[in-house]
Amino acid sequence: MIQLYIPLNFLGVIYREIKQSLTDLDKMFVLMDKQREVADAPGAQPLTGLDHPTVRFENVHFAYDASRNAEGVANGRPILQGVSFEIPAGKTVAVVGPSGSGKSTLARLLYRFYDIQQGRITIAGQELREVTQASVRQAIGIVPQDTVLFNDTVAYNIAYGRTGASQAEVEAAARSARIHDFIAATPTGYATMVGERGLKLSGGEKQRVAIARTLLKDPPILIFDEATSALDSANERAIQSELQSAAQNKTTLLIAHRLSTVVEAHEILVMDAGRIIERGTHAELLAQRGRYASMWALQQSDGAA
Ligand code: ATP
Repeated sequence: MIQLYIPLNFLGVIYREIKQSLTDLDKMFVLMDKQREVADAPGAQPLTGLDHPTVRFENVHFAYDASRNAEGVANGRPILQGVSFEIPAGKTVAVVGPSGSGKSTLARLLYRFYDIQQGRITIAGQELREVTQASVRQAIGIVPQDTVLFNDTVAYNIAYGRTGASQAEVEAAARSARIHDFIAATPTGYATMVGERGLKLSGGEKQRVAIARTLLKDPPILIFDEATSALDSANERAIQSELQSAAQNKTTLLIAHRLSTVVEAHEILVMDAGRIIERGTHAELLAQRGRYASMWALQQSDGAA
């Protein structure tokens, strides 16, 4: 029996090792996919002064394909053309505008998925290109349009970004993001595997996991990119208030389709074809009777605002 046990046990160890490395590979690909565009500058230092950071975009120009032709002209279509704005420490700036106008690109650039071709993006006065990527990503919590989950447990997916969080903290974040009851109702609860080989989650459920992850991470800067777009309206209203309280005193970039979510913002930027065409508070923009005012009127009459 012992002769059999040893090889079988050995096989078990190898199986676990292979399984673990596959999971790690999955993570690596997810991360590589996002990181291959940028690299730390030699001697880059971590961001500092993150208690209440101000975020600034100064005359930012960006094209996804930054390669240049023989004449030195960038090949890529310009996506952002001279975008400047500031999110004062602890305030929320909202971005609205038609599909393809460059809203999500702002979020990707702040998270430094890509480097810009012209201009500056700073956090607490430090230019993104000059600090470590790891410290930028540590400082920012992002709830993207499409959340990528790891092939791991629900608990792991929520705790990702704040390693060492206790089970009670994970559950508290899940409750705030309205996903606790769903998780608790599965046979293995927080130990349930999610992703390709596990429990398949809907767009809204994935988004709630991402919201829980961000609430738990509790970073000084938040990016909500259509954060509640995949949710039904009952969940949306409930989570909206959680997000608003999470954003209290955080420097927040809020990208939204539904104008009702931006009314309270410190400033609203209206984007069109890579430029800011209007800016101001909700009241100021309504008074301007421009693009924002007509978007507002349209959403009111649709009952969607
Ligand atoms: P939506 O409201 O539909 O999410 P958006 O305003 O957020 O749109 P972006 O996602 O910022 O728009 O895209 C702006 C432009 O950049 C679009 O024309 C889009 O096709 C282009 N684009 C986005 N991602 C890439 C990419 N990875 N490579 C090349 N072009 C891209």
